[in-house]
Amino acid sequence: MATIVKAAALIDGTGRETVRDVSVLIADGRFQRIVTGAGSGLPSDAEVIDVGANTLLPGLIDAHEHLGLRHERGYERGQMLDPEHEIAFRMAKSARENIEAGITSVRIAGDKNHMDVVCKKYIDEGYIPGPRVYTAGAGIRPSHGHGATATTIGDGVDGVRRAIRESVAKGSHHIKLFVTGGTGTIGTDPLISYFTREEIAAGIEEAHNVGRRTMAHIHGGPGADYAIEAGLDSVEHGAYLTEAQVEKMIKHGTWLVPTLTVSFHERPQPDHRPPEVIEKGRLARAARAEQMPWVIRSGLKIAAGCDSWHGEVAMEMELFCEFGMTPMRAIQSATRDAADLLGELHDIGTVEVGKRADLIAVEGDPLADISAARNVRLVLRDGIRFV
Ligand SMILES: [Zn+2]
Repeated sequence: MATIVKAAALIDGTGRETVRDVSVLIADGRFQRIVTGAGSGLPSDAEVIDVGANTLLPGLIDAHEHLGLRHERGYERGQMLDPEHEIAFRMAKSARENIEAGITSVRIAGDKNHMDVVCKKYIDEGYIPGPRVYTAGAGIRPSHGHGATATTIGDGVDGVRRAIRESVAKGSHHIKLFVTGGTGTIGTDPLISYFTREEIAAGIEEAHNVGRRTMAHIHGGPGADYAIEAGLDSVEHGAYLTEAQVEKMIKHGTWLVPTLTVSFHERPQPDHRPPEVIEKGRLARAARAEQMPWVIRSGLKIAAGCDSWHGEVAMEMELFCEFGMTPMRAIQSATRDAADLLGELHDIGTVEVGKRADLIAVEGDPLADISAARNVRLVLRDGIRFV
């Protein structure tokens, strides 16, 4: 059964200007034709969804997602220590919030015990509504690094290699390394590299050997240099990156997923995080407010990700724009560019013939006001309607 989605406007994610009065033909879960005007030659027996004055966009992508972590449940380490049967229900809620907000793909940044692989299976089989899940498994850290029992331990070069092989065997699409300390847990320093240079280089090589891209939790300090120089694909967070490190990232083609939503979203009151974590969060927020304008101006490749906040890609795009990004680039950071970072641009990220039919409609013009991306009126993933 074919579907035609008609709309007054389409921003297709490629960077070209808005297409007016458009009809998008979908069949077999993919875009078949994109035509303007009367749409002659389209099948007369197709189901027609007319979204009127709304704007079509590619399905959004959250490039840094922990389905099992939820901001409203307080301290992250405690959440990671929860038993799997509790985490499973949180993941189902996060999955639904994503798809209802027009997020049709998520790039996992680590979920306990490879539960993201299980969650993906049940979404794919239609048991629960959700986005397409690109899995990372549990993520890999050294014994004394940021994270908790949710992660796989990789100590020493051999230990890191073994952990990566295990993660790939369990179904990881890409590999997550926890390099520096975090702002979300107690007892680690965001500027210290808990992995050695050798462990980082071995980990990236091991992953790339089998065609897996690498993402690393890094705030700054020497761990950033070790990882960028070793060919890391993306720095996650990066609150304390220096100008020299950003220049190095541009030279090496490294992406940044700054996850600003974590720093700037209003926290529920009372805030149940430990005082040390609240203070580290305050410092990171101040650092980012100073840093993001020049990082955005530098031309560094940036993708949108929301971490333990779900369905908030629109807010991440708003923050990008507040710090100087154009609305078009912000849209691409959550569509085309995030797909490119995933290595999946051939399949998702833009509305082009042959790609998966991930399509949303929003009320308003997000190029005039990026907040329009919050007003989701239609969501198709693989041509299946969720909203
Ligand atoms: Zn994270």
